[in-house]
Amino acid sequence: MQGRATTTNSLLFARHAGGELLCFRVSGSEEVFIDGLGEQGLGKVMVIKVAINGYGTIGKRVADAVDAQDDMEIVGVTKTRPSFGCDLAVRKGYPLYCTFDEKEKIAAFAKAGYTCHGGLTDLLDVADVVVDCSPGKVGAANKSAYVDAGVKFIFQGGEKHDMVGMSYTSSANHEANLNAAGTRVVSCNTTGLSRTLVPLYEHCGSLKVECTMIRRAADPGDSKKGPINAIKPVLKVPSHHGPDVMTVKPEIDINSMAVAVPTTLMHCHSIVAFLPEGHGLTTASVLKLWAEHPRIIIMNGGETNITTTAEVMEYARDIGRKWGDLHEIFVWEDGVKLDGNTLYYFQAIHQESDVIPENIDAIRALMGTESDWRVSVAKTDKAIFAYNGL
Ligand code: NAD
Repeated sequence: MQGRATTTNSLLFARHAGGELLCFRVSGSEEVFIDGLGEQGLGKVMVIKVAINGYGTIGKRVADAVDAQDDMEIVGVTKTRPSFGCDLAVRKGYPLYCTFDEKEKIAAFAKAGYTCHGGLTDLLDVADVVVDCSPGKVGAANKSAYVDAGVKFIFQGGEKHDMVGMSYTSSANHEANLNAAGTRVVSCNTTGLSRTLVPLYEHCGSLKVECTMIRRAADPGDSKKGPINAIKPVLKVPSHHGPDVMTVKPEIDINSMAVAVPTTLMHCHSIVAFLPEGHGLTTASVLKLWAEHPRIIIMNGGETNITTTAEVMEYARDIGRKWGDLHEIFVWEDGVKLDGNTLYYFQAIHQESDVIPENIDAIRALMGTESDWRVSVAKTDKAIFAYNGL
């Protein structure tokens, strides 16, 4: 045997000198031989055990996206207390755990009629990777539990890059994240910027960008956030979004500003990109470049009458997307103009969902089960479509 290829908490893979991959189930201190998997069986059979810590807006969506895949499964989701989100977890058949280890907090679930399988430590015991979907800046306090449990971890965009040490978007830096101990899927806005800017950068070899994020005030399910009757500039210039793109693609020279507006549906970006001399692009070829990249939808507002974020969301509901989500970035064809070396465009971001498939690709990157980001993206999206009957 040539040593261990990889381990999960319950499966161990080792490559035989002959090249065949062998699979063992780890039971206590025993390693029980299960099967020989042939030359390239790992990606086919390894079922990655995924825990979701924080079953809220992002957590419940990531859980379903995981459930849709054949190479990973949900081993549990956490709630802080027995609130209404527990019902969805029960209906989906996801084992419910308490975010905390305190006995009284765990016992509160049973009193409310829910079966709680234990605290966070119990959940981490049965997981290979945890997706932390706790509220922004709350997740940092969970990191030591993940490290102590020896479980890989994925944080969300509300956490700081420096706390995690790695950031992730599928098209920008999947390879750099391969086999890492943990990463952070960047925010919805940064994911959106990355989707359209990375292909431009890759074509041009250099790129300078100025952009303004017109941000939704709150998610539809939020009752505490605002503004509800004002436009609120982010009085920190640049806003964090541009610099955040540089955590996944440092070569893109980008600055951003941001304003929050009273809407819950989507964010809208107004982007000006300065292309280098000799870029060789036209407005039409920029659109073609994006059309050839996954998770970007391009539509003509004048022709379709989809001219605002309200119609974009109605479109998402019409085509049967669960929760009315739109994982893709929406670009208005007639809002794109390349004037010499300066490219102007608008794009709309469904904040609750564009990061969801990226979390799935990030799981594969950390577990080292798929090194080609395009293969992972295609697999992720196909499985989600099938799962939702689309
Ligand atoms: P949310 O408030 O909808 O859900 C957070 C969940 O975590 C809730 O169920 C909450 O009870 C639970 N929780 C509270 N304290 C916890 C703790 N200590 N440990 C674990 N869980 C805890 O928040 P959300 O909108 O899903 O955001 C989650 C993360 O995703 C944040 O980092 C956020 O910045 C990021 N994000 C949010 C959006 C969005 O539009 N909602 C988009 C992209 C990224």
